[in-house]
Amino acid sequence: MERAIEAVLDATGDDDPFSGTTPDAIADQFDEPVVPEEGVGLGVAIDEVAERVLANSVDPSHPRCAAHLQCPPMVPGLAAEAMLSATNQSLDSFDQAPAATVLEERVIDALGHLFDLPAVADGVFTSGGTQSNFQALLLARDRYCDQRFDRNVQRAGLPPGAASLRIVCSEAAHFTAKQAAHHLGLGENAVVTVETDDDHRMDLDALDETLSALDRRGCDPFAIVGTAGTTDFGSIDPLPELASRTAERDVWFHVDAAYGGALALSDEHADRLAGIERADSVAVDFHKLFYQPISCGALLLRDGDEFGRMARNAAYLNPEAHEEAGVPNLVAKSVQTTRRFDALKPYLAFRALGRDRLGALVESTLDLADDATSLLAASDDFQLVNEPVLNAVVFRYRPGEGLDDESVSELNAAVRETLLRDGRAVVARTDVDGVTSLKLTLLNPTATLDDVAETLDAIRACGSTVAEVQREVTT
Ligand SMILES: *Cc1c(COP(=O)(O)O)cnc(C)c1O
Repeated sequence: MERAIEAVLDATGDDDPFSGTTPDAIADQFDEPVVPEEGVGLGVAIDEVAERVLANSVDPSHPRCAAHLQCPPMVPGLAAEAMLSATNQSLDSFDQAPAATVLEERVIDALGHLFDLPAVADGVFTSGGTQSNFQALLLARDRYCDQRFDRNVQRAGLPPGAASLRIVCSEAAHFTAKQAAHHLGLGENAVVTVETDDDHRMDLDALDETLSALDRRGCDPFAIVGTAGTTDFGSIDPLPELASRTAERDVWFHVDAAYGGALALSDEHADRLAGIERADSVAVDFHKLFYQPISCGALLLRDGDEFGRMARNAAYLNPEAHEEAGVPNLVAKSVQTTRRFDALKPYLAFRALGRDRLGALVESTLDLADDATSLLAASDDFQLVNEPVLNAVVFRYRPGEGLDDESVSELNAAVRETLLRDGRAVVARTDVDGVTSLKLTLLNPTATLDDVAETLDAIRACGSTVAEVQREVTT
């Protein structure tokens, strides 16, 4: 264990966030058998991993690693991870995880309070937003089918009228809404996306038009998904208005707060989540803005009884007799069976730092994103694409007025690839209005504006290399 810790410390102290290596070069290092007849011994195997894996990993703790929602994990989370792995508790039955079972329930209660959900709320830890969104939409579908078609989907499967079922979300919602629709047997086409406004929030007029059109066509929208923190822009849908629409229609209101849920930690920003307390379900990820190691997420339900729609009893895990005796039973709330004690990570972080200090970490990254915006706006070779709502900043490298959108797309796509090979900074790309753009997701509370400036300089340096190559090709 000490050798492994040393290896991690060695690998993360580098000047650059990435070695810049290629998939082929990495593959070349692994030409020895993965399963040798005789092992090399743990010490040697760890050294090999240090040399080949850790040295060629991206370092999300590096201040110039700012691409995705991949956070620098905080030490309390790492300490918790060591304890929960070493003791290997499994949350699928009380006898495999006595204290862990009770503690997960306590953490879920605390999260219910954090989001102002009622006392009857409940929840379960998940692998992340994908699983939380899936499970929320599963329960939404099954409740609707129960009420509308008098159908118990758990036992009888989808009703004959299922082709009319629809999920409504904004065009900026996470792709996992569509993925869930597929997995739920509804198909991706069951997801109807609503246009967003200039700030990438769901447009309410467009929502009302969409709902009327669905009514006219005899469709059954059974869930509206609001996003609190879209992946590219951090934008937050108008949650109170979505809560009213879903209440009027008596359909499920799911809030995907995988990214933005952490605002609840901050006194300054928590009110931006107003309306979330009216959700039927909330997805929140701790492996993003709560700084916990992957994987760590939760699904919260406003009415814990809804979990009954997926409950089942297995004689070897949660026999009915146990349930009657009040033995806690988490397996019935999860889509997993064997399940990690991930709740220990936010628990240790909450206890160690308190809401105040955790909230301050989140606030500092939002401030940095604002400062980064000013820096970009003041540079004539960069074009700012969004005013950040959270800490994601989308922009384009655009040297010179004369470049059309197509050239800008090519240039920015090439800059991102060159930058990854260079290793000095790790940034993301995305398309906005059909034009390839760059994105900084500034999750790291230790990063400074100087680090952002260095990242922009690295982009400029790669940009001029790329522009030179493009000139050579065209002349
Ligand atoms: C990250 C993210 C997801 C997917 O969550 P995973 O934890 O990657 O499974 C879903 N929705 C939003 C808004 C996200 O940011």
